[in-house]
Amino acid sequence: MVEQPLTEEAPQQKHRLLDLSMERLAEEFTALGEPAFRAKQVFDWLHVKNVHEPAQMTNLPAALREKLAEKFDHAPLRQVVRLDSRDGSIKYAFLTRGNDPIESVVMPSKYGCTLCISSQSGCPMACKFCETGHMGLRSWLSAGEILQQLYLAEQDSGQTVDRIVFMGMGEPLLNLRALRRVVEILCGEQGRNWSPRRITVSTVGIVQPMLKLADTFPRVNLALSLHFTTEAKRREQMPEATHDIMELMAALYYYRRVNGGKVSIEYTLISGSNDSDDDARRLVDFARFKGLPQDHPVVLDAEMQEKPARMQPLPVHVNLISYNPIPSAGFRGTSEDRIDHFAQLLASKGVPVTVRRSRGQDVGAACGQLGGKFAEK
Ligand code: SF4
Repeated sequence: MVEQPLTEEAPQQKHRLLDLSMERLAEEFTALGEPAFRAKQVFDWLHVKNVHEPAQMTNLPAALREKLAEKFDHAPLRQVVRLDSRDGSIKYAFLTRGNDPIESVVMPSKYGCTLCISSQSGCPMACKFCETGHMGLRSWLSAGEILQQLYLAEQDSGQTVDRIVFMGMGEPLLNLRALRRVVEILCGEQGRNWSPRRITVSTVGIVQPMLKLADTFPRVNLALSLHFTTEAKRREQMPEATHDIMELMAALYYYRRVNGGKVSIEYTLISGSNDSDDDARRLVDFARFKGLPQDHPVVLDAEMQEKPARMQPLPVHVNLISYNPIPSAGFRGTSEDRIDHFAQLLASKGVPVTVRRSRGQDVGAACGQLGGKFAEK
């Protein structure tokens, strides 16, 4: 599968200000005949102060503000919808310059505020149980379009976001370079100076980018969307997730061994499909890396890392998610009793497990429900 090139290099009328790293912004300012410290001021307005309109960057000379407004696209996304759920979460729909829909969900709680963010408009992975999968891929998002979801959501909701989870539209590991830029900006000293552990990347499991992420994004959390424990079922329901389960296990082992971020397995329970006792047993084995050959090349590679082993004796944490039905799929969620039974089976084998009740279901903001239904035609 082909990775998206950096969109700042793609032909477009204007560079998006939010796409640019500090270094690239400084180069642009040099080309404009402006001193480097002006680039730092602008970077601070954009990523720390959350101010994007050049006219409001009050410590810049008026002529420079005009130049910025003329030369750059400072706001590539437009907010079109806000839906408030009874549980306090807020679903936003945005449109790109090309009118492609994106959705994000703000989820405040007593532990801080989490933003579920999109990395693509739509998704090419075509998972059958997911509304976004039924949309297909509309467009790749640039780093600036990903970041602007955060900034617009903060401005509109009045919340300060404490962590982001790439669990909205899209498969973030297909958009690795934009993802890298987002992490660099949010975790950079001149950006928000976040700990990488405030960022969680969710993936259906694409092995090479997973290994790259493990090596180059230290301490970013990884959530592997496993959802099925047999090859046949996984291929049927997640047709574009083509790596086999043992390869995913090896990649997860590698990530946990070398990265330092938290690792989890996401498992959506669908009635009669993946919620049997046998599924629970296979999930226990996966979480414990049971059957993983110690001479597997990825495992050997992990063991040869010079970094201190980060592997812990515990099995990987499993998040069980109750399925949120979508009209196009025809599946039902597992009953509460069955979910509790399934969780108990995992816990009885020593697998740490959390049952996640999805938020924002009443406004179509829960896991698997982001379907871009608000696109303006
Ligand atoms: S579950 Fe994730 S990867 Fe699969 S189609 Fe939906 S958004 Fe894409």
